[in-house]
Amino acid sequence: MERKSVWEIWDEKTKEKVFEFCENYKDFISFNKTERKLISSFVKIAEENGFKEIGKIEKISKGDKIYKVNKGKQSIFCVIGEKSLLKGGKFIVSHIDCPRIDLKASPIYEDEKICLLKTYYYGGIKKYQWLSIPLALYGVIILKNGKKVEIEIGDKPNDPVFTITDLLPHLAKDQMKKTIEEGFPGENLNIIAGSIPLKKGKEGKVKQNILKILKQSYGIEEDDFISSEIQVVPQGQAKDLGLDRSMILGYGQDDRVCAYTSFMAFLEIKKVEKSCFCILVDQEEIGSRGSTSAQSSFFQSFIEEILEKAGENPLKINSVFENSKAISADVDSLLDPNYKEVHDPKNAARLGYGVILTRTTGGRGKGGSTEPTAEYIGYIRNVFDKNNVIWQPGEIGKVEQGGGGTVATYLARLNIDTIDCGTGILSMHAPFEIASKGDIYSTYLGYSAFYKSEIG
Ligand code: MN
Ligand code: MN
Repeated sequence: MERKSVWEIWDEKTKEKVFEFCENYKDFISFNKTERKLISSFVKIAEENGFKEIGKIEKISKGDKIYKVNKGKQSIFCVIGEKSLLKGGKFIVSHIDCPRIDLKASPIYEDEKICLLKTYYYGGIKKYQWLSIPLALYGVIILKNGKKVEIEIGDKPNDPVFTITDLLPHLAKDQMKKTIEEGFPGENLNIIAGSIPLKKGKEGKVKQNILKILKQSYGIEEDDFISSEIQVVPQGQAKDLGLDRSMILGYGQDDRVCAYTSFMAFLEIKKVEKSCFCILVDQEEIGSRGSTSAQSSFFQSFIEEILEKAGENPLKINSVFENSKAISADVDSLLDPNYKEVHDPKNAARLGYGVILTRTTGGRGKGGSTEPTAEYIGYIRNVFDKNNVIWQPGEIGKVEQGGGGTVATYLARLNIDTIDCGTGILSMHAPFEIASKGDIYSTYLGYSAFYKSEIG
């Protein structure tokens, strides 16, 4: 089938709407570079739109708008439908953690009169991409006295930034001969933090000076890093990309593009037959194993609490799942003209050709894939076509080239019909990722159609 680019289909007026939508999106991803910041921004918007924390409600009835946050890093928003939740709901789940570099529990040291910070990278990164670029620090640190200190250094106009050094080409003779994996050891991703020594003191005076600054500015002692979550992320804001401004270059679009578009589509829900859910999870990039991940019991407890407060039997939770439909809202790869060889051109998605429906994730013999039924793919297709959503099929890459997974598996195994559907990304997991404004808007329209659809 001959597919067309969204730009060939949409008129000038729609294009204006798309660009306007993306202005807000750019701001959003530029100012919400951690899970915690994103959740608190969403909660603020939700509360302004009449959402209430479920704990503050005793009885739940039709049309109620509720939410719950788990440990500041995961949340569920819900609009209660006209029908009983036992008849099923509609779920869109995205993840809000992104590949990055974290500080180690004991990070500060001095070497050759430079103070550095030890790190551990988070998620699947190509390490060399994170060298010699400006970096910002974000996170929280719990002091010995229990006080929580928030840190944000690098993105305000007068802030200093951080960086990781790379070897000068003049002396890289040996490095150049190594494989990329061996040439850039993870243990070398140390961040430069300072170089002025204290006037007085013993060895390690540069480190002591940095510790003094940390104490004076934030009340932080060296040991306090044990109880911290400090993330190192690319410094800078998301920008328009290209002379035609058709794309966005920005950090963390995997998967905040799906989080943002699903949340915006969700906010517009008025009266619905089936309850709608916008779910945001953490820890996807490291395997979804923790308490704020898609595998946390937080999700099921929330459903049980709704059933109980709506006067239904919480023991019937499996009926909810059996009758539900879900989108695992995550990004997918796009055919990259520089690396065509990793794609099957007949099945790869293209930049600017709409939101992607992915049947098979995983890799090699569909290992790890959740495989929605043909009926469910048919249902989603139908919803999109009826609502003029521009979409395209996609897959991560050639059959034996590699692969990847999403949180779809954690919904599918509850017996929820689940399909992977999201925005295409070039340079995925790089410090700055590329998405088409047309695809971003198509994703929003697709999610919106899913929430509003009453067919099936
Ligand atoms: Mn990812
Ligand atoms: Mn992802």
